[in-house]
Amino acid sequence: MSQHKRLGDAIAQSKESSKIAQNSVSPWVNLPSFVVEELQQTLLDWYVSQGRDLPWRRSQDPYAIWVSEIMLQQTQVKTVIPYYQRWLVQFPTIEALAAADQQQVLKAWEGLGYYARARNLHRAAAEIVKTHGGVFPADLEAAMALPGIGRTTAGGVLSAAFNLPLAILDGNVKRVLARLSALDRPPNKAIKELWRLSEEILEPQNPRDFNQALMDLGAILCTRRHPNCVLCPWQRHCRAYNLNVQSELPMSESRAPLPHKQIGVAVIHNRQGQILIDRRRQEGLLGGLWEFPGGKVEPGETVQDCIRREIKEELGIEIEVGDRLIVVDHAYTHFRITLNVYHCRHLSGEPQPLECDQVRWVTLAELDQYPFPKANTRIIQALKQSEIPT
Ligand code: SF4
Repeated sequence: MSQHKRLGDAIAQSKESSKIAQNSVSPWVNLPSFVVEELQQTLLDWYVSQGRDLPWRRSQDPYAIWVSEIMLQQTQVKTVIPYYQRWLVQFPTIEALAAADQQQVLKAWEGLGYYARARNLHRAAAEIVKTHGGVFPADLEAAMALPGIGRTTAGGVLSAAFNLPLAILDGNVKRVLARLSALDRPPNKAIKELWRLSEEILEPQNPRDFNQALMDLGAILCTRRHPNCVLCPWQRHCRAYNLNVQSELPMSESRAPLPHKQIGVAVIHNRQGQILIDRRRQEGLLGGLWEFPGGKVEPGETVQDCIRREIKEELGIEIEVGDRLIVVDHAYTHFRITLNVYHCRHLSGEPQPLECDQVRWVTLAELDQYPFPKANTRIIQALKQSEIPT
């Protein structure tokens, strides 16, 4: 029997059980007010003693909170903290960020991944300076009109900075609410209902702490793998707990395996001991970052042939492919890649940016000045440890 069918049956049976129905929380049914009040009070009480002490919670500056919200998308708290602290030293205000060069912004973000977040922060800072006098707008619609700010980020920033009664629905909150309501489908198939539930339980007098508490509940107790229901302030009203299906919820989307691409990559050396790098076009994945040139290996093609072909097409030059430097595996959200990296020698032609924004010859020491995607930083490490071919 499939996971969905078994869970669906358990949840359906529970609807007939008067005990659970009495205490049930369903995203599409209004909750009794006493349940809402108990959920609010117990969560806020728990937060006072168990909430996390995080650097951005000591600030009510919407800019600092906004930076933390963007960094925390897709990235864990412990990774974010040093980036957040360095960022605010380097770009202490919205004006400072808006005035910075995109290369500085991408360099400060290097290693955090999902670089569209950094480009959007930068663009939004410029927009705030232009349209809102450098002050983060205290208004949901205006905040959501900025690049990279969706409803949950806007709700998170505005509730934390201005105590506005706006709900949130990030990944942690989706999981908690899916369990609270014993949601009978994957959360992404019930977004409207989950937003309604998040709005319904929000404590309107103290949305700042309530939203932070909700995020902490997901991060500390209602975790993805082993929800710690014994310590949970919501145990009494949690439908998943009462049905004993908390470890099986939320239901997962059935996913096809990620496509896997083989990539040929050239580290091209010239007679002066320099290396050729190119800057990716602004639009698309990793836009604006620098990389070693190369491309996808076509069916029936060797990696060496691929590298020669790609370099001719992308840069208009002839090269000789030499020894292999390193093989790097990397996974993005929607696909995996294997970078097959080879030392290459420049033979003829002036490199031109035919399929990228810029090309540049740099020394090994100068590579550190440029923002590179994570997979490329492993190539740089290998290059520093290798013998450079003559
Ligand atoms: S009782 Fe368990 S499943 Fe329910 S909200 Fe709490 S930790 Fe999550």
